[in-house]
Amino acid sequence: MRVDIISIFPEYFAPLGVSLIGKARERGILDVRLHQLRDWAHDVHRTVDDTPYGGGPGMVMKPDPWGEAIDAVLSTGQDASARIIVPTPSGVPFTQRLAMEYAAEPWLLFTPARYEGIDSRVMVEYGTRTRVDEVSVGDYVLAGGEAAVLVMVEAVGRLLPGVLGNACSAVDDSFAPGAMENLLEGPVYTKPPEWRGHEVPEILLSGHHGRIARWRRDEALRRTARNRPELLAALDPRGLDKHDLKL
Ligand code: SAM
Repeated sequence: MRVDIISIFPEYFAPLGVSLIGKARERGILDVRLHQLRDWAHDVHRTVDDTPYGGGPGMVMKPDPWGEAIDAVLSTGQDASARIIVPTPSGVPFTQRLAMEYAAEPWLLFTPARYEGIDSRVMVEYGTRTRVDEVSVGDYVLAGGEAAVLVMVEAVGRLLPGVLGNACSAVDDSFAPGAMENLLEGPVYTKPPEWRGHEVPEILLSGHHGRIARWRRDEALRRTARNRPELLAALDPRGLDKHDLKL
């Protein structure tokens, strides 16, 4: 997968050279290309922002450098166009389902903003040529979109074939479409069987796969009820069995 990121802080993306994502890049599974937005600002100060029309505090990112930058990046594509992802707190929520959808794309272009965001005409302009998604990573406001892009690239990158050591681990993750859709993963344990007087639940040492699976599902349901009750309400009743309903 190819990922382009246009930002006024390309150095913010150094963590993409580390761990799973860094290895995926080394192995050619993920091709990340960083671009400095100011390279497409032509005044002496390389200005990328201006005062908002209609007044109010803060500055808005100008359409001209963004337009030139996006055109330049898109022009390097062969046949396909990139799917453009614009991080913004006013976007649709970034979910595991969306991460999986993005993981199936050949090319993503992220446009993390600063200040009060990007002039809205940029999204309208590219929306006529390719898919443009305005996406939020949570109900809070960051200082800029770079951290949001790091979150999304990591969530998408780990789903690419060959990136995770054990591909099954993504299937059992919290939120994974299928059995874990709208569920949080329950507690996990490793050796030793007793630590500071706390014991690993006996069932996990039993070797009985069916009962362990049942226990894990019960714990996932309990944890979801405790931490995210609104997710339980969204569970598809057709995916519930008799035992689930007793909990
Ligand atoms: N005035 C904007 C609002 O209230 O919606 C917030 C602008 S924020 C200070 C600057 C930039 O940070 C945004 O344009 C976006 O790129 C990024 N950002 C902030 N919070 C975000 C979030 N929850 N999800 C995705 N991007 C976010």
